[in-house]
Formats: sequence, structure tokens, C-alpha cells
Amino acid sequence: VHAARAFARTRWLQMRLRSRADVERHQNAGLTRLARDLQAHIPFYQGLDGPGAWPVVDKAALLADFPRFNRAGIAVEEIRAALAAGTDHVRGHSVGQSTGTSGNRGFYVVSDAERFVWLGTLLAKALPDALWRRHRVALALPGLSSLYRSANSGSRIALGFFDLADGVEAWADDLARFDPDTIVAPPKVLRRLAERGQLRATTIFSGAEVLDPADRALIEAATGRRVREIYMATEGLFGVGCRFGTLHLAEDVVRFEWEAVAGSGLRIPIVTDFTRRAQAMVRYRMNDLIALEDRPCPCGSPLQAVRQIEGRSDDLFELAGADGRARMVTPDVLRNAVLDADPRITDYRLVQTGPGTIEVHLAEALGGSADAAVRAALERLVARLGAAPVAVEVKSGIAVPFDRKLRRVIRDWQP
Ligand SMILES: [Zn+2]
Repeated sequence: VHAARAFARTRWLQMRLRSRADVERHQNAGLTRLARDLQAHIPFYQGLDGPGAWPVVDKAALLADFPRFNRAGIAVEEIRAALAAGTDHVRGHSVGQSTGTSGNRGFYVVSDAERFVWLGTLLAKALPDALWRRHRVALALPGLSSLYRSANSGSRIALGFFDLADGVEAWADDLARFDPDTIVAPPKVLRRLAERGQLRATTIFSGAEVLDPADRALIEAATGRRVREIYMATEGLFGVGCRFGTLHLAEDVVRFEWEAVAGSGLRIPIVTDFTRRAQAMVRYRMNDLIALEDRPCPCGSPLQAVRQIEGRSDDLFELAGADGRARMVTPDVLRNAVLDADPRITDYRLVQTGPGTIEVHLAEALGGSADAAVRAALERLVARLGAAPVAVEVKSGIAVPFDRKLRRVIRDWQP
């Protein structure tokens, strides 16, 4: 019922929000309602006088004061204990954690109703014709709880769930039998299916991880179909690709503010979800680096378009400058240096392991010439940025993790 209502509401808003002015009016009304609710129910915001007084919070601030950010006062330890005991409910609320490394996990509290609202909103944006056309949708996403599996999703949309942790090979045949017209999965899963010739859905959504241009090219070449993106995280649903392949931010449920990353043209989103009530997600600083698109999309949507999600802000490489000033290097610049070094490279890992050391992993089959080309490309890049020389170590062999997020550019070192 909640999913169906969210579906209808999202579709209704798509009709109604025609211009930026419409979007802003809608957001302001949402923020006013949110402010009232935060005052009444969320301890952290009580006594703060409306949106102007809400501070920007990041994951560390949220974790430090977690019970005061949710309506039920649930603590992180309670979530951990519940999950360890095999349940995903605490005091009537759904709880969960993201699949980060242990020191870097995110935790969340949502009501069961909000979970179905999330699903209904997602489906309305992804499959707007589902009111009159039947769909078979395969979902292979992290954190899909048992709740969805037991749900009757309605007659028009048949949902199939596939467990990421089992690996693609474990369920590829089941997926073929389910015969979906639409699939939503992380890009590494889409790529693996495409390489096996088993990606046959007509509508392909990539979600839950950064869609690397190399993966997009490979999947689109193998299937002849456009890959659309869903921008989602532990923190919520932030954008869905339209039929033209443009990723539009979900500004009908979230207000975005932007923090510029100096010298890069990339921005870090600060999000306020004005629909969620179980846990406040208010002026929350995300860990993403985003390039916005200035041109309007041919679909006519007034929702802001995204050119590319480039990676995570805590994976910015920080190199010592020759002049003593640090140089930040964004993942897109690093990626392009590697991919442009040798046209045979379609996968890689780049890890900053120390202030002046970078480790590169390449596929075994490429051999020494690719190693040398990548090393030279990175050294050129570092010199061009005015950073002190770095030691580049090239290693052979790449593993694809199916039990956790794939990151190609990683800063494994704290400045
Ligand atoms: Zn569009």
C-alpha cells in the first residue's frame, strides 16, 4: 500500500513539477513540514530554529550522537546487536548498516512504511509506464531486507531478488529463468553478466556503486543498450536516470546543497531528505564527488542533471607538493591517466598507500608494456600537478569483490 501510494505520488509530482520554480516551491513546503516534525520528534533538532539553524553533519557527527538523530532513540550498539542476532528490526523499526569497512560503516533506521515508499518512489522514476505495462524487475542490491522479499508487490510489477553476497555465478541461471525486462544491479554485476552473455533485460539500471565509464562502455557494447543510473546509498535515494540516460537528482524528495572541491569542478552534495521521519537526514554531507550537467535534458525534467558521479571524497589522493602545499587529486583525473596509458586497460585498481606511494593493479594478461605506460602516465600527472615525485608500484591481478563495494580508486592512508 505504501509502495503504491509513493508510486502514485511520485508520478503526480512528475506531472506537477514543470519548472525550477515549481521544484523550489515544493522543496520549501517540504522543509517547513520537516522543521515542524524535527522540533517535535528528533532530539538533536529541538531548540534549533528552522532550516537556517541546522548545522551540516557528516557521518562522524551522526555516529557520535546517533540516538538523538532518530525518533526511537535507537543506538548504534542496538543495531549491531540486532544484526548479529539475525534480525533487522529494533523496537518496531527497520535497521541496517552499509557494507563499508568496519571503521567506516554507516547505520540507518527507517520505518517499514518508509522502506516501501523508497521502493515505490524508485519504481515510479525507473518504470513510469508500470501503471499500464507489466514489468519483471530483477533487483541485485545490497541491503534489501527480508521485508521486500515477503512483500506482495502488486500485480503489475513482479520483483525478483538476487543476493549479491552469493556472487553472480550462483544465481545467473535463476536470473535467466526469471527472465526480467528490467534489472537493477551494481555495475560490476552488470559487467560480469554482460561478459557471460547473460544480460538480456531491455532496461538496465546501474546502482549502489560508482558507474565507471569503462564499465559503461563495456556493458553498452555487449548489450547494445543504454545503461541508466540509480544514485542511491545507505542514506537514501538520490537520483534516477531518465529514458535519455540522464541521471536526474531526486529533488522531489531531497534538497541538495553543494560544497565545491577546489580546482576540480567537482562538488560534494549536502542532502536534506524532507520525506523521511524515522531518522533525520538533514544537511548531511555525503561522501561523493559529483560533476553536474549544465545543459537541460531533452526529457524536459526540471530536476538537476548529473554528468558523472566520480567517486568518493575520502578517496581523493593527497600528494605532497614540491612547494610543501598538499595537492588533492580527484578520482576522475587518476582514472583517465590510467585508462589513457594503454587502450587495452579496461579494469584497474589505484591505491594511495602513503604520502608518496601509489599502488596500481592491472590485469595479468597485459604484461610489462602496460605496466611501464601506467607508471610513466602517473609520474607525468604528478609532475604536472607540481607534486613531489611518487613511487609507483604496479601489481598484476585484479579481484572483483561481490560481498562489498567495488572501489577502483582508494586512498588507504590518512594524511
Ligand atoms: Zn532527462
